Amino acid sequence: MKVAREQEISQIEIGKPHVVILGAGASKASFPHGDRNGKKLPLMDDFIDVLELAPLLDKTDVEYKSRNFEEIYADLYGRREYASICRELEILIYRYFSELKITDVPCRYDHLILSLREKDVIATFNWDPFLMQAYLRNKRRYKKLPELLFLHGNVAVGVCLRHRERGINGNLCSRCRKPYMPTKLFYPVLQKNYHDEPDIADQWSRLDEYLKDALLVTIFGYGAPASDWDARKLLKKGWGEPLDRRLEQIEIIDRKDKDRDALRKTWKSFIHAEHYDIRSDFYDSWIADYPRRTGEAFYNQYIRNSWEGCLEKNPIPAKAGFEELWVWFDVLYKNEFKHNN
Ligand SMILES: [Zn+2]
Repeated sequence: MKVAREQEISQIEIGKPHVVILGAGASKASFPHGDRNGKKLPLMDDFIDVLELAPLLDKTDVEYKSRNFEEIYADLYGRREYASICRELEILIYRYFSELKITDVPCRYDHLILSLREKDVIATFNWDPFLMQAYLRNKRRYKKLPELLFLHGNVAVGVCLRHRERGINGNLCSRCRKPYMPTKLFYPVLQKNYHDEPDIADQWSRLDEYLKDALLVTIFGYGAPASDWDARKLLKKGWGEPLDRRLEQIEIIDRKDKDRDALRKTWKSFIHAEHYDIRSDFYDSWIADYPRRTGEAFYNQYIRNSWEGCLEKNPIPAKAGFEELWVWFDVLYKNEFKHNN
């Protein structure tokens, strides 16, 4: 009887989503030497240099050195005399990101997508197209992949505002058969009120549902900058109070892993007690150690509290080419359907 009950609980817990949140650090870690053509990936602190925006910003009287670009943009946006500079910045930035091309060999984004299941979700703050590009090339092999959410605009994603439908930028809306419009990249107020933005409001409400139900949350390369105050508030709303999340675990992947105190402080209002891990690299994470089995591994180790029942690590063959990688993942993928369907 006890065993049956335990199995029942384990199925419920293991079936809960693993939520992954991506920030600029995830793209930078995936492409440290740039994209396929060597185009560099910016972080917030080198954004103006990498995109060569200084000549445009020099035409304004706004102080921009060592400031977050979103804050600078918000300053400019409020001033009529800079309307055309804002437009030029938007075009430059959109063009820069839309020209980025994923490398030919499997990267962290391929490994991330393949290592999660259909019940899971990857929500990104990034404007670059890498997550979508990785998704599409793996979708050719696997029907069931995690859901993708785009919490800010993204150059690979388009939207039909009339039918509130999203898809690959340039594809046709299934209802009006008109091409999706590009999503806008900027929400120029610091309190972004995502719920009032029709093209991303539904993405945030999906994430809210996933967070309420999540067993594991991985935050990869997202530092929750001050300009994302509203985003933090919404993440917190979905996640709730740490005391109500006593089973769940948060994992932070950040190259600033040496500064554990600062990272813990950033995410303090999400973490219950010691239920968190900090890793410097994706390949040390739960996802990379237990691909497609993070729920099972977590359940055995932390909820059942059984080292005997611990799953053995099964790390992703990170150096494998696509064919080898897919054959490796086929085994895990096919096993799921044998047991679940
Ligand atoms: Zn439409």
